[in-house]
Amino acid sequence: MTSRTRWVWLGDHLAVDFANTTIGLADRREELIGTVAEFREWVEAEPAWLPPLGADSIDLAAVLRQRDATDRLLRNAALQRPLDPEDVELVNDRVRAAGVSRLLTTVPGTSRLAADAGFPALLGVLAAATVDLLGREDLAAIAVCEAPGCGQVFHRSRRNQRWCSPGCGNRARVDRHRHRNPAAGAASTR
Ligand SMILES: [Zn+2]
Repeated sequence: MTSRTRWVWLGDHLAVDFANTTIGLADRREELIGTVAEFREWVEAEPAWLPPLGADSIDLAAVLRQRDATDRLLRNAALQRPLDPEDVELVNDRVRAAGVSRLLTTVPGTSRLAADAGFPALLGVLAAATVDLLGREDLAAIAVCEAPGCGQVFHRSRRNQRWCSPGCGNRARVDRHRHRNPAAGAASTR
């Protein structure tokens, strides 16, 4: 699988893209950045600006700890639950350690996160993206996809959007149809 097909859904908010580096739910959860090479591939495929790694080596355990914290924070926010203080502290620590700032760009209404190069800067920018997303007032825009087997966090573009993508919407409708008409389900091929 090439990185382009592997990461087709990227391009949402950076914090959402970072959280979505696994696929599926619970025991069927597939790790997509389980190796340093896969993490580097994700960094290259991610459309948002990220600090260049330079010659720094990657502490994959630190990446995964932060990704899991980010994932829990986003899911809790989507369900309007309180955020775990330990997860909040981890994210804030990473922002402080990297000294991330937000800079204006030449396109009015836009800005970007910035930090020096290197691995701590990369984690810092990913952490700052989470602060950015969860510190907003329109948290209702963050949702968890309800399609069977998906569970990805996404950003609603319409107020009552329930699925992260048209593909998930179709699968959810087929699934619902099958539950109503068991005979139809038996005849269908997946
Ligand atoms: Zn989905």
